[in-house]
Amino acid sequence: MAYAVTLIPGDGIGPELAEATTRVLEATGIAFEWDTQTAGEATIASEGTPLPDRVIDSIRHTGVAIKGPITTPVGSGFRSVNVGLRQALELYANVRPARTMRGVETRYEAVDLIVVRENTEDLYAGIEHRVGPDAAESIKIITRAASQRIARYAFEYALRNGRHKVTAVHKANIMKLSDGLFLESCQQIAAGYEGRVAFEDRIVDNMCMQLVQKPELYDVLVLPNLYGDIVSDLAAGLVGGLGVAPGANIGDSAAVFEPVHGSAPKYAGLNKANPTALILSGALMLRHLGETAAADRVESAVRSVIADGQTVTYDLGGHAGTREFGDAVAARVRGE
Ligand code: NAD
Repeated sequence: MAYAVTLIPGDGIGPELAEATTRVLEATGIAFEWDTQTAGEATIASEGTPLPDRVIDSIRHTGVAIKGPITTPVGSGFRSVNVGLRQALELYANVRPARTMRGVETRYEAVDLIVVRENTEDLYAGIEHRVGPDAAESIKIITRAASQRIARYAFEYALRNGRHKVTAVHKANIMKLSDGLFLESCQQIAAGYEGRVAFEDRIVDNMCMQLVQKPELYDVLVLPNLYGDIVSDLAAGLVGGLGVAPGANIGDSAAVFEPVHGSAPKYAGLNKANPTALILSGALMLRHLGETAAADRVESAVRSVIADGQTVTYDLGGHAGTREFGDAVAARVRGE
């Protein structure tokens, strides 16, 4: 049986990364029926929007998408495609693993974190207004329903993936009502997992210092939207930066897998960018589909090509192109 998957190559470096990634995923022997959907800059000219309805319809139909980065034109009036997709499909959990890899130069060893970020509310609800000429207000929305939903997701993720601890991150000492509700919701959910997954909480500023000083103490982190955005970039930085940071946006009826990085327009079409983050996002997709053995093979192939250091892209100190790196990973997946 072939898996029907929506493939959004994206723009900038996206199409090259998508090509390398589909080659790697197909090397697992699993059959995919790619429903390729263009979105982004190109469709603004041809269809008047960077996110045509057909893209969302396709994901509603397949339930799963892999997506390259998409440029958000500054000042064009179009909403970010990434935010649009998350809202239209109610992709409430943003999951970003950060794990050290041999061959990727970093200051740390043995970092293995999963950042679970609430994706739908908080200051990102976009409710802000000017109060006269010299002041502005942004409204932070935190609900029990969304906080419990993300906490439950984090605990279920921990159980499914053999992780031992969830840390809730907040600033409830200052924002006693909003962050207080987030923390209280996490504590309520944690009670249902007692004895199976450990639970603790940290204030976000202390969390940042702890992650820089002793990241190996942490496992799964669950955060409201804004702290999740910031802390997931911090975590990506601990393990080697954007080129190697995969991500997933998960909802109850659809999931979109995409790298943390953007479309890096200056490298578009140059066969230069590192496809690792999109390939590892593909491995997350395989796990989501229940293809655990194939996901393991893809991840260890990426790790071994990077550890060898012979066929790596410029950002990892090598001279290989996007295509050559992808081909080297695909060959290892096939066991060549
Ligand atoms: P970016 O991530 O595109 O690039 C920042 C820098 O990181 C690049 O110049 C490059 O040096 C490096 N880099 C990123 N990805 C790399 C890769 N795969 N291999 C090697 N080096 C890589 O961030 P930006 O410049 O802030 O954003 C460019 C565009 O991307 C903007 O329009 C932004 O809105 C969009 N964006 C899209 C997404 C998404 O689609 N999910 C995410 C972030 C940014």
